[in-house]
Amino acid sequence: MEVFAQAADRGVKLVWLQGQSDSACTVSLVQGYYPDIYDAVMKLNVNIAYQPTIMVPFGSEAFSVLETVHPDVLVLEGSVPTGEMKYACAIGERNGKPVALYDLIQELAARTKVGFVAVGACATHGGIPAGRPNPTNAKGLKDVLPGRTVINIPGCPPQPAHMLLTLASVILGIMPELDSQGRPKAFYGKLLHDECPRRGYYNRGKFAKLFSDEECLYELGCRGPVTFADCASRKWNGGVNMCTTAGAPCIGCFEFGFPDKFDLPVGFYESQRTLELKATKNFFDALIIGTMATAAGYVGVELYGRRKRKKEEGGQ
Ligand code: SF4
Repeated sequence: MEVFAQAADRGVKLVWLQGQSDSACTVSLVQGYYPDIYDAVMKLNVNIAYQPTIMVPFGSEAFSVLETVHPDVLVLEGSVPTGEMKYACAIGERNGKPVALYDLIQELAARTKVGFVAVGACATHGGIPAGRPNPTNAKGLKDVLPGRTVINIPGCPPQPAHMLLTLASVILGIMPELDSQGRPKAFYGKLLHDECPRRGYYNRGKFAKLFSDEECLYELGCRGPVTFADCASRKWNGGVNMCTTAGAPCIGCFEFGFPDKFDLPVGFYESQRTLELKATKNFFDALIIGTMATAAGYVGVELYGRRKRKKEEGGQ
């Protein structure tokens, strides 16, 4: 809160809209540590004119900012419902009628001076709201602003440094080098699999059967081999950890097409459930085999004992 109050009426105007999202991109942003949000805003002289999750004003007072602001940078978090479903996400009201996010983006884009940044899988290509069957015809920012250059920072959520450093670059007037999907190459140029601490197990063909095992998570559905992300070198939560080192297979959230792309022919959650069942099945298979082996051992010992006793009785 303090940082927004101090930055009010200063330099570069940034408007951060939220569409169909769970606000996790914002949560990730405010947990940035190098740089942190305070440094980024104060040192770059940024005026965050609108950010619905953490701004102080709300309701019509907050919406009135959007009616007049001329953003330097327009940021979108969350996907945009379109077509007949465009009112699935409305921001504020005019004359008692809701204002669709889709329409608001068109209005603000016409007044935006420097650039557009989409943060998170939902804003870059639709993300989870656009997963099958995509009931709101959800789209990413580049698809609702055809002909405009949009910098894409995918991830569910994106790494805070990816957002802060990219925004800093745009605010300073420096266009980062982008790949064919509009992602800054500096962050999305390396295959996660190549830097993963479990890679040695993969190379030796040693695969985890349970999420708690220490081997490579490939057979539990890890998408690291097809995901370009620097999670393994940059890590998360202040450089402490990342998915594969915490026993969670990479789900490919930095890739365009997430979540459906990696889960054909079943849906995202169904696929995760299948993986859980597979892991549980491995556990019970091991339990059953162990139990059967133990039982077989007891039967063998018992039969041997009986035969021995019979022999001894016959000999007497
Ligand atoms: Fe590759 Fe995933 Fe195995 Fe790591 S855990 S080595 S990213 S397959």
